[in-house]
Order: sequence, then structure tokens, then C-alpha cells
Amino acid sequence: MIRAFLLLGSNQGERRNYLDNARMRIHLLAGTQVKPSSIYETAAWGITDQPAFLNQAIAIDTALSPDLLLFTLQAIEDSLGRTRGKQWGPRTIDIDILLYGDQVINQPNLVVPHPAMGERKFTLMPLAELIPDMIHPIAGKTIARMLEECKDPLGVDKLGSGK
Ligand code: ATP
Ligand code: CA
Ligand code: CA
Repeated sequence: MIRAFLLLGSNQGERRNYLDNARMRIHLLAGTQVKPSSIYETAAWGITDQPAFLNQAIAIDTALSPDLLLFTLQAIEDSLGRTRGKQWGPRTIDIDILLYGDQVINQPNLVVPHPAMGERKFTLMPLAELIPDMIHPIAGKTIARMLEECKDPLGVDKLGSGK
């Protein structure tokens, strides 16, 4: 079993329902859910003229290889009505692999740790809630430290319990 950390995001429709549904499907299909973070709301990053996102980090224990995990998460995105428009565009659900144990993966279709993590408060804040002291395998510093040093100007609001 490998402990992986995922980031869920939604900015269309009933955003909380999409997060809840995604967590349930991930638990059934991808790996035992260990712990969800709180839910956070952030203005959209990258393409900014679109609704705000809800984001949540979760830990899972998975027996799937990185490729199979990505494939399974994409199937879950599809099953929740995700259409594949432009990168960073609006979506019912986005599920990114942030960390897969302490493995470093550089494939055309999969880069882990997620390469944008250090630039995104909406990723580091929920992740720091789960694993503040874990050392990022490339940056060589803790997630809490990366959050302190992150220059992302977008405000991230904690909404409440992740359950
Ligand atoms: P970003 O990755 O910057 O948050 P995005 O989530 O909007 O952007 P998508 O359109 O969801 O990007 O995904 C584009 C491709 O990214 C996917 O088809 C997948 O192959 C690839 N990818 C690479 N690394 C990862 C990762 N760690 N987690 C999820 N997808 C990844
Ligand atoms: Ca993403
Ligand atoms: Ca994605």
C-alpha cells in the first residue's frame, strides 16, 4: 500500500456535492480514504473569469500503480460529468495527484509531486492541514514551510469540516 495525497477541486454546479461524490467514488475505486482536509474556497487560478473553486485534499492508501491511479481518477472525473475543455477551465470535478508516497515520477502524462503545488496556496493550505511536517521529495522542505514561503496572492478561505 502506498499513501497518496489528492487534491479535489470543483467550480461548477453543486460544488460540495461533487466533492462528496468524488470522495465516495475514490474510496470505492481507488483506495481507502484515510483523512479529508477541510474544504477551502479560492478564486479561480490561471483563467480568472470563472466561478470560484472549492478545494479539498485527501489522503488515501492505495494498491494501484501511479498510472492506474491516474486512469481511475480520470474515469471518476468522467463519471461526474467532467468535460475536457481547456486546462484550468471550469469543471465539475478535478482530481490531481499531489504526492504518491515519496516517489518522483516524470512521465509525459503524469508528473508527481504535482509540479504546481509550490505556487498554489489552495493546494498547500489543505495539504498542510493533513501533513504539515512531511518533507516534499523535491523541494526538500516541509509542506508547512512551502506554504509559508508561497507567494500566491489568491485568498483561500477555510469553509468548515471536510466530512
Ligand atoms: P493543473 O495540473 O495545472 O492543475 P489541470 O488540473 O486543469 O491543470 P487537467 O486538464 O485536469 O489539468 O489535466 C491535464 C493532464 O495532466 C491530464 O491528462 C494528466 O495526464 C496530466 N497530469 C500530469 N501530472 C498529473 C498529476 N500529478 N495529477 C493529475 N493529472 C496529471
Ligand atoms: Ca488541477
Ligand atoms: Ca487535473
